[in-house]
Amino acid sequence: MKRTPREFVGVYFKCCRVYVRAYLNKEKTAFVAYCPKCAGKMTIEIRADGSESRFFQAQ
Ligand SMILES: [Zn+2]
Repeated sequence: MKRTPREFVGVYFKCCRVYVRAYLNKEKTAFVAYCPKCAGKMTIEIRADGSESRFFQAQ
């Protein structure tokens, strides 16, 4: 049975202390999110084995 990847994950922007959804890019290689307040960008690359955590934080 094929595992369906999630369309988005929840991410936390420490800069402005907000949670947003990071959506899968069209290549399905990473989730991308933008901070709604300062427009900071966060990219979460999906590893080759398909593993990713539920939540991520901006560096
Ligand atoms: Zn921000």
